[in-house]
Amino acid sequence: MFRLEETDIAKAVERAKELHPTVRVIAYGEYTVTGSQPGTLYTVKCYRDTEGFKTVECTCQTCDGVACKHGMAAVALHLYMATIEMIIRRRAARIARQRSH
Ligand SMILES: [Zn+2]
Repeated sequence: MFRLEETDIAKAVERAKELHPTVRVIAYGEYTVTGSQPGTLYTVKCYRDTEGFKTVECTCQTCDGVACKHGMAAVALHLYMATIEMIIRRRAARIARQRSH
């Protein structure tokens, strides 16, 4: 488990690029990521913890406080999904405002 705001993520991002992982969405904030060994699959959860930090949890052996490549691969998709969701929400709110006028 690591916090995006407090962790050096540069190396994990580089490793994620080399890994070419397949990331699948289980639910918003929950993903599966393929590992470097064939057949390995890790579950990654992305969420805000109780203190408001963007937290990434991976089922691999990487110790707490260190970013792993699976986590960063999932974060890339998570941020993308979060952006899309925000756009959809804002558009719906704008349409609702226009209709009430
Ligand atoms: Zn991992």
